[in-house]
Amino acid sequence: MSRIAYVNGAYVPLRSASISIQDRGFQFADSIYEVWAIRDGRMFDTDGHMTRLQRSLAELRITPPMNEATLMVVMRETMRRNRVTDGIVYVQVSRGAANRDHVFPAANTKPTLIVTAKNLDRAAISKRAASGIKVISASETRWQRRDIKSVNLLPNVLARQAAKERGAFEAWFVDENNLVTEGTSSSAWIVDADGVLRTRELSFDILHGITRGAVLKLAQERQMKVEERPFTMEEAKRAREAFITAASNAATAVVEIDGVAVGDGKPGPVTEALRAAYLGA
Ligand code: PLP
Repeated sequence: MSRIAYVNGAYVPLRSASISIQDRGFQFADSIYEVWAIRDGRMFDTDGHMTRLQRSLAELRITPPMNEATLMVVMRETMRRNRVTDGIVYVQVSRGAANRDHVFPAANTKPTLIVTAKNLDRAAISKRAASGIKVISASETRWQRRDIKSVNLLPNVLARQAAKERGAFEAWFVDENNLVTEGTSSSAWIVDADGVLRTRELSFDILHGITRGAVLKLAQERQMKVEERPFTMEEAKRAREAFITAASNAATAVVEIDGVAVGDGKPGPVTEALRAAYLGA
């Protein structure tokens, strides 16, 4: 089945889908994106991702290309045309195409909107969660507004590639104070040596993970001891458990950090309980 993309008002075969070489997303990364997970045909955290999309647009002063309800119709239609039941739907909005100039183009420049959807290998994702993943550390080289889901992803790409080359799945960025910020495409968590569930507090330093928010709520509802407080890599290596959260991986255990086993080197009970609660299992 050939895949279909939505590009600026039309559903087109992915192979021939194109945008201008003058697009500001391409030329300046003047663009934002959002990703929703779909499992068993159900879209997860629908409102949270939509709210973050609107917030990212507002922070960059990009005009929303359509209202939320219409965008949701386009997203569902893109999912339908690609027969997506277990995967992701991806939305990217740039400030549009204009003669190359750093300053914003004329106010009537139309933002570029693309929507794609694809199935992911569900068996591989479940297998990854069952065995846990390895992470490596990467120095925090990104800009200072990581709360905006912008496509400024070059440092993330380089760190993720380094992880792959070292046999790991993810890299955790470490800031100038030796504290973990987050993963290249996930939020970072530990259950520390005292049994406290910890993840960094919300600020400009990290993307406000929608899955992070949902899992935090589930932990609080279960009366777990939770602290939104950063941790060092050393604390993570000594932790009882570590895990990541992200739309496409829910909560997935980290069993090794920079070559050091976390806990007994297997996914731990807190991670497993939160994963099951989040997936509604
Ligand atoms: N942090 C970064 C840098 C990300 O790119 C992502 C997701 O792609 C996350 C955290 C997790 O966010 P969410 O749970 O909204 O998918």
